[in-house]
Amino acid sequence: MSSKMMQFVSVPKAMPDKRPAETRRADFREIYEAFEPDRAAQQAARCEQCGIPFCQVHCPLNNNIPDWLRMAAEGRLEEAYELASATNNMPEICGRICPQDRLCEGNCVIEKGFESVTIGAVEKHITDTAFERGWIKPARPTIERPESIGVIGAGPAGLAVADQLRQLGYKVTVYDRYDRVGGLLIYGIPGFKLEKSVVERRARLLADGGVRFELNCEIGRTVTFTELRARHAALFIGTGVYRPRDLSVPGVGLDNIVPALDYLTASNRKGLGDPVPAFDSGALNAAGKRVVVIGGGDTAMDCVRTAVRQGAVSVRCLYRRDRANMPGSVREVAHAEEEGVEFVWQAAPEAFLGDGDVSGVRAVRMRLGAPDATGRQQPEVIPESSFTLEADLVIKALGFDPDDLPGLFDEPALPVTRWGTIRIDWDTMMTSLPGVFAGGDIVRGASLVVWGVRDGRDAAAAIDGYLQAKQGVNTPALAMAS
Ligand code: FAD
Ligand code: SF4
Ligand code: SF4
Repeated sequence: MSSKMMQFVSVPKAMPDKRPAETRRADFREIYEAFEPDRAAQQAARCEQCGIPFCQVHCPLNNNIPDWLRMAAEGRLEEAYELASATNNMPEICGRICPQDRLCEGNCVIEKGFESVTIGAVEKHITDTAFERGWIKPARPTIERPESIGVIGAGPAGLAVADQLRQLGYKVTVYDRYDRVGGLLIYGIPGFKLEKSVVERRARLLADGGVRFELNCEIGRTVTFTELRARHAALFIGTGVYRPRDLSVPGVGLDNIVPALDYLTASNRKGLGDPVPAFDSGALNAAGKRVVVIGGGDTAMDCVRTAVRQGAVSVRCLYRRDRANMPGSVREVAHAEEEGVEFVWQAAPEAFLGDGDVSGVRAVRMRLGAPDATGRQQPEVIPESSFTLEADLVIKALGFDPDDLPGLFDEPALPVTRWGTIRIDWDTMMTSLPGVFAGGDIVRGASLVVWGVRDGRDAAAAIDGYLQAKQGVNTPALAMAS
């Protein structure tokens, strides 16, 4: 093993420099600066090069983390990039926005006494460097195949399947109802976590490699599902989940109580330079307002931090469980607190107050009661504990459910689970409709970018196997990606 490695005893964990909260509150730029090359190498060299790397086991893509860390430590960044990109179609994006504290880094063995290796930041550094130095080239398949594949949805799952299949020489067309590529990467996740130029760079690379994008094309409306099946040898559905969960409390219909994704999409579109009347009119703009965000997941964290940047007078986050039991990333909560967000833990809305426009939220205090069947303690109301928060804008960030896809696609045979997600056979990634595959949030329910990429890779391998088998081609199908 290289003498450079195992530096964790003498070198403390260090992330790239974080911009001061006061500065970053004023813009939508990413909050971390780029790693300086020496520091990235030094941090990579903290890795212990475990025989059984738990970081890799807990990465949904099973990335070969110890090997690319060693190469990064030795300054062999081009080789590190080759390895990192062999298992991940967007390492620079996962390196930025994976909840590493719950995945690779949270399971790094040196985490216990010495704090984990900064895996995500090194992954980002390797791939950003590869882009800067021109090592990343569009797909140039060695053979062109006649079959064409249709991909519905240009989010991470759809982009991963498209990338993989194009590299194998298939003709790939990605359809999206939006006008830009990226799904939630472009219109959901704010720029302070993932700058839009990073997503656009990926999309351009795919287009340069021959992936066709048909945007502003909603399957089920612009083109029927049946027509699409007739156009392509196989289809992949990666349409995500977009139906916001709602509250049923008095006053929920008042003006200025808005769903999180409407709010975030307006902000992202504004940042991209689009005309956004609902932002300009103030309906989806927190400037000068007292904002209350309801929810404790990553979407809620993105809303509170967006509101701060838009110039809200105050931003509060109301969540019914405590800090230790919230679904959002601990790191994101810390960033939000630094930026001036106030968390009101163990509290839930009881009613919205106001006449026309919302003027306040009446909330009750909660405590954690007995665990349910899943073992998670259930919040229960503390009697006579009501209190009121003044608010001019309330953002509901309570999670998402799938839309009615069989209805939209006019395809009653499309199999769905009781949660409305698409049912697939996980061994083949195929639905019970021959040649129709699916993955990402529409199969898993609201999940993570990295799981979308994993599904896209697995589905691409399965589609390749399916088409080869159909043709009677006697070449082994690609092994499932991982
Ligand atoms: P999506 O990204 O939702 O893409 C689906 C695409 O399908 C969209 O472009 C949509 O327009 C298109 N589509 C839908 N229906 C049709 C149709 N009928 N015809 C044509 N196109 C259609 N994950 C993380 O890992 N880290 C984070 O920090 C993080 N932050 C998040 C913040 C927010 C606010 C949200 C909402 C989610 C966040 N996630 C995060 C989750 C992550 O974004 C999703 O898990 C991921 O984007 C799912 O990928 P997907 O490809 O399945 O779907
Ligand atoms: Fe960690 Fe995500 Fe990268 Fe895997 S893809 S190594 S989980 S940051
Ligand atoms: Fe290195 Fe930590 Fe992974 Fe071990 S678990 S190989 S120390 S990054």
